[in-house]
Amino acid sequence: MALKKDIRSLSKEELRSFFTSIGQQAYRGNQVYEWLWKKSVHSFDDMTNLTKEQRAMLADKYVINHIRVDQMQRSSDGTVKNAVRLHDGLIVESVLIPTDTRSTACVSSQVGCSLDCKFCATARLKRMRNLNPDEIYDQVVALDKESRHFYGRPLSNIVFMGMGEPLMNYKNVVQAVNLITSDDGLGMSPKRITISTSGVPKMIRQLADEGLKVKLAVSLHSAIDDIRTEIMPFNAKMDLGQLRSSLEYWYSKTKSRITYEYVVWEGINDKGSDIEALIEFCRFAPAKVNLIEYNPIDDGLYVQADDQVIKAYVKALESNGITVTVRRSRGKDIDAACGQLANKSTA
Ligand code: SF4
Repeated sequence: MALKKDIRSLSKEELRSFFTSIGQQAYRGNQVYEWLWKKSVHSFDDMTNLTKEQRAMLADKYVINHIRVDQMQRSSDGTVKNAVRLHDGLIVESVLIPTDTRSTACVSSQVGCSLDCKFCATARLKRMRNLNPDEIYDQVVALDKESRHFYGRPLSNIVFMGMGEPLMNYKNVVQAVNLITSDDGLGMSPKRITISTSGVPKMIRQLADEGLKVKLAVSLHSAIDDIRTEIMPFNAKMDLGQLRSSLEYWYSKTKSRITYEYVVWEGINDKGSDIEALIEFCRFAPAKVNLIEYNPIDDGLYVQADDQVIKAYVKALESNGITVTVRRSRGKDIDAACGQLANKSTA
């Protein structure tokens, strides 16, 4: 028996055409689209403004693939981590990070990751597949519900900082952003969405041309090629020169400040020369640096530098007029912190 097609792979136009092709009115396509995205229903039976016959006909032809939150863990600091089961049984993780005023969703874009950063737990999973736009969208919907439930407010921000390299799943990530920001979807402002990349120059240029109005964050971790290649081996092929020129292009097109994510590790990037190189790298476009607390993964090869070094970074960046924040990790007790997402909860 042929597998039924996932109805959410159809655009609104395609749904409208489908109805006209079977001799029915096109607006039925709009109704179905609204049920699928704005109302996120999982069953054709819930589409109560369609006739029984129409619902049965859709169920006969299509399925509605959707994610299932297999396990939800809540950290002592309020962070929530979802282990999300996809329709084919694979698992990704997504995280809700609440502060006093904000609820930020951190979503995954791939099962595993295409890249091989040495310090990252996700890298060990290897890339199994890209997530579809609806699978990214559904993570946001699930976290939005949890934010309303636990904190009485909708999501305020979304970051593509979970498992995977979003720009290596470019088309689906862009489509997910379009759905999240569309009035037919969640209607969120793109300014509240940050795409966090490890730095894929060709795709940063493409994103600049896309005109999405999202923010860009780059996991930099070193502004010295040899060191960056040691910790992020893909840097050998996509080096800092190429990254810099793609970011210059990004800024020239978007006029949007670039955020650099940066972890300081003992014996790796904790010297004065590392700080100087970072300051130099921040000069060509308005930049902000997030110094992120590192959460060791089990092999203990990478250890966060001590507070004195972090203070030296902050002082030097600030005295050069560069905005810097020190990010304390959230959700450590449930392995939900940055770089820790590795499907441990369901392993
Ligand atoms: S840090 Fe990001 S890009 Fe690097 S391996 Fe981990 S998930 Fe992939």
